[in-house]
Amino acid sequence: MSKWDRQGDGIGVTLGELARRGIAISAWCEGCGRYREPSLALLIARLGAATPVGVAGRRLRCRACGRRSIDIRPRYPSLGVVAQHHRDGG
Ligand SMILES: [Zn+2]
Repeated sequence: MSKWDRQGDGIGVTLGELARRGIAISAWCEGCGRYREPSLALLIARLGAATPVGVAGRRLRCRACGRRSIDIRPRYPSLGVVAQHHRDGG
């Protein structure tokens, strides 16, 4: 989970950048596990296009349990390629 923190293509990307690339986002509540797919346009209108995805999650509040611990992740079309990086032998 913490590996996202240091990756530039993870939660550090801004809402405006995702909107420009047409990438949707997913959001989970860390308190009760509620899953949502918030509208990027709505988040940008409320928080601003320069807000990093990781920061935006902390500004939201879960409607189910009321906690401010929303985890937002960009929904990149294909993430499977990354797994091939690790290789042993040679
Ligand atoms: Zn919740």
